Amino acid sequence: MNLIFLGPPGAGKGTQAKMLGDRRGLVQLSTGDMLRAAAAAGTEVGRKAKEVMDRGELVSDDVVVDIISHRIDEPDCADGFILDGFPRTVAQAEALDRLLDEKAKTLDAVVVMNVDDGRLVERITGRFTCANCGEGYHDTAKRPAVEGVCDRCGSTEFTRRADDTEETVRSRLETYHAQTAPLVDYYKARGKLRAVDGMAGIETVAEEIDEVLENA
Ligand code: AMP
Repeated sequence: MNLIFLGPPGAGKGTQAKMLGDRRGLVQLSTGDMLRAAAAAGTEVGRKAKEVMDRGELVSDDVVVDIISHRIDEPDCADGFILDGFPRTVAQAEALDRLLDEKAKTLDAVVVMNVDDGRLVERITGRFTCANCGEGYHDTAKRPAVEGVCDRCGSTEFTRRADDTEETVRSRLETYHAQTAPLVDYYKARGKLRAVDGMAGIETVAEEIDEVLENA
């Protein structure tokens, strides 16, 4: 099964993609994670991408389409994948349609997570992750059971994303509404869209995703 998770920054796409991936043996493909890895590795693409990401804008369509095109050819994607953060523009969606056609793959559904903008700034600026295993936490909504120690792996190192500041979040939300939100209509017109309420708790959203995918 090949899926897209769509929604504004902070809607829970990454969290839900990881959980659904574990439940169904699907690979989570986050273009944001891939670009951050390229930036950390100091590659040419990564350095350029970091400047754009730090402004809350979008990396060029060519760069991300190329990354995804190569990534979905990897053997671990053969049983299905969840695109998290891609496509983000209509041009990327059109490129993805062409890619999937060429590779004889299909898109089964697009899950859109609806969340109020007002809640997103608080959600994003409060989040942090375990530097070792990537488990996600939040300053108020989900702290580690033992302060400063990751519940999952016991690490005491945590990180925050460079673009999770209030100013950059506002810019990322503007970018989302201007460039990514039109994809809701794009996929609705193609009969692929399944909407869930991203305001509910993590487990409730996960159940709703399972329900909307029942006949995908
Ligand atoms: P994310 O981790 O999905 O929130 O993405 C973080 C940042 O990476 C975004 O604000 C963009 O600057 C960049 N990015 C991630 N995915 C894409 C994409 N599909 N197209 C363009 N830029 C992207």
